[in-house]
Amino acid sequence: MKGLMMHFPLTVPSILEYGNRVFPSKQVVTLLPNGSLHRYAFADLYRRSRRLSEVLRLRWNIAPGDRIATFAWNQYQHLELYYAIPGAGAVCHPLNIRLSVSQIAWIINDAQDKVIFIDASLVPVFEKVIPMLDHVPDFVIINADKDFKAGFRFMHYEDLELDTPATQDWVAADEDDACGMCYTTGTTGEPKGVLYSHRSTYLHAMSIMSPNAFNISMHDTALLIVPQFHVMAWGFPYVCILAGANMIMPSSHLQSQAIVQLIQQEKVTIANGVPAIWLQVLDYLKKNPPAEKLTLREFFVGGSAVPESLLQGFDELFGIRGVHAWGMTETSPLGTISRLQPHHERLSPDAQRKIRSKQGIEMPAVELRLIKEDGTIAARDGETTGEFEIRGAWVAGRYYNSEAHSDQAFVDGWFKTGDVGTIDPDGYMLITDRKKDLIKSGGEWISSIALETALVAHPSIKEACVIAVPDAKWAERPLACIVIEDGTTVSPDDLKTFLKGSFASFQVPDQYVVMQEIPKTSVGKLNKKALRKLYQEGELKPVK
Ligand code: AMP
Repeated sequence: MKGLMMHFPLTVPSILEYGNRVFPSKQVVTLLPNGSLHRYAFADLYRRSRRLSEVLRLRWNIAPGDRIATFAWNQYQHLELYYAIPGAGAVCHPLNIRLSVSQIAWIINDAQDKVIFIDASLVPVFEKVIPMLDHVPDFVIINADKDFKAGFRFMHYEDLELDTPATQDWVAADEDDACGMCYTTGTTGEPKGVLYSHRSTYLHAMSIMSPNAFNISMHDTALLIVPQFHVMAWGFPYVCILAGANMIMPSSHLQSQAIVQLIQQEKVTIANGVPAIWLQVLDYLKKNPPAEKLTLREFFVGGSAVPESLLQGFDELFGIRGVHAWGMTETSPLGTISRLQPHHERLSPDAQRKIRSKQGIEMPAVELRLIKEDGTIAARDGETTGEFEIRGAWVAGRYYNSEAHSDQAFVDGWFKTGDVGTIDPDGYMLITDRKKDLIKSGGEWISSIALETALVAHPSIKEACVIAVPDAKWAERPLACIVIEDGTTVSPDDLKTFLKGSFASFQVPDQYVVMQEIPKTSVGKLNKKALRKLYQEGELKPVK
């Protein structure tokens, strides 16, 4: 027998409808790239997004399911697009501005984005992407002066007349329709598209609001540091509207001084960011202690493992609690979060931090399991190691346009994360290793296989193997181990110049080790484990 409850579609526009009805005067504050401060209320965000949604349909004839991309910072116009695009039945596709030009072009070609909204400050990067596109999208530039010039035809965002009242309602979407899309970096260089649904986005936003998760309410003011192009800013553009939390958008101002100033000026209570950001903020605060205790109550940190020292620094020096979380583009992202349970409270602060620096327990509506090398399920004993598999209400079921990758990653209704570790009897996940051949530096991925392939294309290089090595600032950096052809020489500077053409500059290794031979496994593969061990033992002497 079916239940007799109403069918109320969980859609992205209904999030904003709620925010407008219940919290119309809550604020969105943007520090724009030009340094000026823009403030308006949720009611303005609602009004302009509804009009933008109508303009998209009238001007570009957007059909349900069309992809519309953004190339922008965290800013109020980007929030308008987050609501207007799904509100027009289309898919909001934020492009990662930090990728290399060829990766960005590859992604746009794969998604076949119909219109692309670009912040004026990012046009110089985007101009290099355009010649590589296989179709001709329309371009709209945000924050451009009247006499702004670009090497391509565009229209001004400000000319879309968003202050004119909308006459049409949102497009009525099915809750299972796609509303958003983000690409994740592939090991072999081919990114994979994850297509979020209205329903998964709504459920994720409601769940991360809860006390065991980010604990967000109408008493909060949130600083959105995680970029809108990283897993939809971890769902903050949606949860803040549902919770009635003010939103502070830093756009391109991501230096520690600007972040601390925004916290002080706007009385920020919560914020999200990768460890590299919080390590820099901690360092800045140590050197520039604030005259008054910061209003920041908690910060959420994930994307890479969190060093205990980061949590300790904020705990002891500033009374601010870092909350560690784990997730992936494929998991919307929140999979686990590490808050203490009541029985942990009798432990010493150090013992508590050991638990807080684990990746944490599963969210409701998400299930994790650990698979051992022999394919069986590992015990949750905190000792047996395996690969984490996950399934749940906001976990991807397939990749967009990528059958081969999907068949590998999604098996028997579970998604293979590529992360390796343990789960303890209290349910806390601890990541100890990564199966995927990727390096995560400052929250951005670097494919070691792509670097190896590029390096061996250099005439002086016979063999190359790239491993992740720990880095105090960026969490990880790539280290390239190379074997040089007899009778030739090559310097790190030559290699950096050689790689710069095909990789974003942060992806180019700054450290190199010349070896006689790269260690191999019994089946003749590059033995990265052995290289990592040699590095830990101080046996590899990198040159810069
Ligand atoms: P992305 O899809 O770019 O969000 O990256 C997801 C991956 O980042 C995960 O599969 C992990 O390898 C890594 N990651 C994310 N959060 C954490 C964390 N808290 N600790 C360790 N690794 C993490």
